[in-house]
Amino acid sequence: GGNIKGYAPICVGPEDFYIRRFFRRFEDCFSRPIASKPDAWLDVVEHCSNDSNKTRLNRTARTSKCLNLGSYNYLGFAAADEFCTPQVIQSLKRYSASTCSARVDGGNTKLHVELEEMVARFVGKPAAILFGMGYATNSAIIPALIGKGGLIISDAFNHNSIVNGARGSGASIQVFQHNNPKHLEDVLREQIAAGQPRINRPWKKIIVIVEGIYSMEGELCKLPEIIAVCKKYKVYTYVDEAHSIGAVGKTGRGVCELLGVDPADVDIMMGTFTKSFGSYGGYIAASQEIVRHLKHTCPAHIYATSMSPPGVQQAISAIKVILGEDGSNRGAKKLARIRENSNFFRSELQKMGFEVLGDNDSPVMPIMLYNPAKMPAFSRECLRQSVAVVTVSFPATPLLLSRARICISASHSRQDLIKGLEVISKVGDLVGIKYFPVEHEKT
Ligand code: PMP
Repeated sequence: GGNIKGYAPICVGPEDFYIRRFFRRFEDCFSRPIASKPDAWLDVVEHCSNDSNKTRLNRTARTSKCLNLGSYNYLGFAAADEFCTPQVIQSLKRYSASTCSARVDGGNTKLHVELEEMVARFVGKPAAILFGMGYATNSAIIPALIGKGGLIISDAFNHNSIVNGARGSGASIQVFQHNNPKHLEDVLREQIAAGQPRINRPWKKIIVIVEGIYSMEGELCKLPEIIAVCKKYKVYTYVDEAHSIGAVGKTGRGVCELLGVDPADVDIMMGTFTKSFGSYGGYIAASQEIVRHLKHTCPAHIYATSMSPPGVQQAISAIKVILGEDGSNRGAKKLARIRENSNFFRSELQKMGFEVLGDNDSPVMPIMLYNPAKMPAFSRECLRQSVAVVTVSFPATPLLLSRARICISASHSRQDLIKGLEVISKVGDLVGIKYFPVEHEKT
């Protein structure tokens, strides 16, 4: 969903009337401000469909409590937490909401240093550096790591923040088929042999960029195979763990832990605090040399205000719970729960005949709708039955590969999930998206 106004094309001519009208109607279907904490259940505020004046929202809004199958709240830290929330309030009182300063000026608190050390320890790299936005971590870091004369080889389904970072870097870009190590090797072999365009000199540097869990597919990266190719050709690896850190692996340490990859074999580990940790911002974890280089040269570190202390504290406290450093076993329980919940929900959806993307253990499970015209009907009918889902289409996916992206949380109870499945099944029949009905064996 979300407000798509930004994508409305600007044109002047007879078609302008129809386009403006279409986008207004489109917004009526999708723009549903969410008013409460992104917990297992949330308050969804619907505005009156004919009310295009959003300033009158309060007078025409209808609020309903819905099962939340849309937020990236994988471990349930986004709502009030008995350990995290008091510490976050304390940090707000002690440091205030903003440092009003860059790290290099006066915006470096003890909390920022503590979180960097903690992230490095958690993901198994020597050092880490924080950024105030997950998106900007990719879009600002990639240009600080590579430039003209360098080559980026990027998975075809990489997130927009990676695409923009790669484009802004000035490096050459080649795309390999999604999650296909064999094709990555073909591209690498060809590019290494060709060298830099026109001057045929060897590439100054080559970085292969992938994601731990692909956000629109829910698919795990074939990391061991990709690392093997990168080692063979001696090129750098960059893994975006926005959706995998905290969410997968026995102790929440992401795809490396889940797939048995040594973190030393990944050169640059990127992640965000916006999903599993219930906070905001992002990090890069890498060698001391790479982190030092970023601290000295990356404009997003030097010129941007540092992360707000309460946001930093939320990430610190959440990681402590995951590590069991809060003195309880809640972290281990949350990790077991997200795995159980995800695998239960995925297998039930598959049994119902939906085309569900993604792998076991992944909390992201897109249900394919294909036709974008099914999106408003699917989300509206789910909402009518008190289930909030996110539907996605162009430009986040190709237009005819529209989908409902379900995100499962450790804070969902089994009862919540059963309710969600019942509603999705009914709506799936109504909208006609059970493309693969399961044949039950006759007894
Ligand atoms: N990388 C990936 C793979 C993402 O899916 C996202 C956003 N969901 C980001 C980076 C940007 O992170 P943030 O929302 O924390 O800015």
